[in-house]
Amino acid sequence: MNKDNKPSTTTKVSKPAPKSNNPTSKSPAAPIRKKLTINASGFQKKLSSLAVNNLLEGEPDYEKLPSLSKVKRAREKQKTKYKPSLTSSSKIIRDVDIPIKITVQELASRMSEKTGDVIKSLMKSGIMATANQYIDGDTAELIVADFGHTPNRKASISLNEIIAGYQKTDKSSIKPRPPIVTVMGHVDHGKTSLLDALRNTNVTAKESGGITQHIGAYQVKHKDSTITFLDTPGHAAFTNIRSRGANLTDVVVLVVAANDSVKPQTIEAISHAKTAKVPIVLAINKTDLPDVDADKVRNDLLTHEIVVESYQGDVLETEISALKKINLDKLLDNILLQVDILNLNVEHDKLAEAIVVESKIETGKGPVATIIINNGTLTEGNHFTCGPAFGKVRALLNERGEKVKQATPGMPIEVLGFDSIPSAGDTLYAMPNEEAAKEITEKVKEQKLLESKESVKKSSLEEMMSNISKGDIKKLPIIVKADVQGSLEAIVSSLEKIGNDEVTINVVHSAIGAINESDVSLAGSAEGLVIGFNIRAIPQARAIAKRDKVDIRYYSIIYELVDDMTKLLSGLLSPDTKEEIIGHAEVRDTFNSSKLGTIAGCYVTNGYVANAAKIRLVRDGKIIHEGEVGSLKRFKDDVKEVKENYECGISFKDYSDIIVKDEIEFYITKQIQKEL
Ligand code: GDP
Ligand code: MG
Repeated sequence: MNKDNKPSTTTKVSKPAPKSNNPTSKSPAAPIRKKLTINASGFQKKLSSLAVNNLLEGEPDYEKLPSLSKVKRAREKQKTKYKPSLTSSSKIIRDVDIPIKITVQELASRMSEKTGDVIKSLMKSGIMATANQYIDGDTAELIVADFGHTPNRKASISLNEIIAGYQKTDKSSIKPRPPIVTVMGHVDHGKTSLLDALRNTNVTAKESGGITQHIGAYQVKHKDSTITFLDTPGHAAFTNIRSRGANLTDVVVLVVAANDSVKPQTIEAISHAKTAKVPIVLAINKTDLPDVDADKVRNDLLTHEIVVESYQGDVLETEISALKKINLDKLLDNILLQVDILNLNVEHDKLAEAIVVESKIETGKGPVATIIINNGTLTEGNHFTCGPAFGKVRALLNERGEKVKQATPGMPIEVLGFDSIPSAGDTLYAMPNEEAAKEITEKVKEQKLLESKESVKKSSLEEMMSNISKGDIKKLPIIVKADVQGSLEAIVSSLEKIGNDEVTINVVHSAIGAINESDVSLAGSAEGLVIGFNIRAIPQARAIAKRDKVDIRYYSIIYELVDDMTKLLSGLLSPDTKEEIIGHAEVRDTFNSSKLGTIAGCYVTNGYVANAAKIRLVRDGKIIHEGEVGSLKRFKDDVKEVKENYECGISFKDYSDIIVKDEIEFYITKQIQKEL
């Protein structure tokens, strides 16, 4: 309320002054008081002049204004008077066109319904959306039907269909392509050594002498077959490409060192391969070492549902030494055996379809990308579209950096001629002409834009909940990470027990240790969530989770965890209190104070830290203390908050065990307001 608004001498004011944002109203001009004669129906019109009067004179004569309830009554009366036909009796049923995505407002206007009513109807189906937010076509269709109108889905031909149209050919040339193999396994178990050994002994063009490998993939000739190896060992690369919708691997070679057996990343690799439904061929490595027990590897793998052939299972196994190059041929035999049962037949004689493995900008060459052709043939001079990029093949360079005219299915090849840089996982399509290439690229960009505008920000968890309640989800994929084996086992077995005939939990992967990028990308591609028990996510994992909207839920009490998941399965979990992590600080130094205990000299690495927030002290990814801030200081002064990239001194309430390199997580618990 703006008290200064009153001219000091004149009017008697019995009602408070209206809110005024305008500072000029503080200095009232000479009072040229117009009489405000208002009756209920004229009220609306007078409002504007009221504002003007207010500006000029400061205070309108409120005594003469009608009461609010009177105005309301009058409005209601008017409504019924002028719009009798639109109510109950004869509602106009409309044909409502529905595109792939539409804003709530636009949908309301196409139905000639009130935006507020549409929002309410959306709320009833559990979707919180504001007027400007986009909802998808399926949701829009339901809403339109709800209102009794006729939904009319735009017969939208998908991009893929348009592309297929351009790539169509009458030549039939179905032939198998070389299999594409990714090597995975725990660090130091010999992935790089194996890739090197295979390359140096079996590379396709051995005759060309000292091979300098040029790109992130190469081909090996074995017997009469060719095998393509992706030279990007690492689970992140595998899942990253996969999470973009491309499956670039036909077989995973799982390398396990015989002297070390099954380790966390071995289990991770198994989870990745299983989620992607890619068969595994086992390579038990380092069998040249004395006193190693390959059977221990076989046995340990049983726990992870990998049953090798010699144990009557279906996983082909080879004992090898990457270092001494022992049994590599047998491994290749096994890969081919495994491939035999896959259908790798593709069309060779059509415009190419390929997947980007890696891309970079090279001086003198511009944007270049390594791709693997999975269908058709790419020829120099072909126009193409590739994600948000397009271009014309200026040159094709094989794995040895030699120029070739054509690249056939299964072949890894470097392509020059992009207008901009594509991303790993993007699909390249050769096009019959430049116009087609540009058209598709434009469409892809449009679609991307729409997706980025998609502001009905459902977290993956909320998405899952709605899918569960719609009955779309049968198994909820969960990745569990915990601090100790005991808790982990307890959690996994409790989780596997909950659920009913319709929905169950599928623990896709469980392990001890901090939540890493691989966990998050696995959850992302499995469309599940990650649970951290007394454990946090490393910063890189947090970044990916944020980008891919993967939910990470933290717990420190098993009962609560199980309870939450039970509620989630029954669709009852309401995300109305939510924990929000506001920032992290790294301990760089510690001091002792007789009054405050240990003071940690910290650097705020992201977000901000606040003395009112709650904290968790994390050491090596494990939570070792949860509590509150005792004091937060900048130099000698107590402060409320300290921002990113600043230093500060922090002490905890009743807790002193802080050491250099610890991480402090600051969080607040927020009540989510259900908004209309
Ligand atoms: P990666 O981390 O899985 O790529 O493992 P590397 O290929 O870098 O190998 C890790 C270490 O194990 C290196 O010191 C290799 O020399 C060694 N190594 C790899 N394969 C073998 C093998 O078959 N036998 C022995 N004795 N050592 C090996
Ligand atoms: Mg390596």
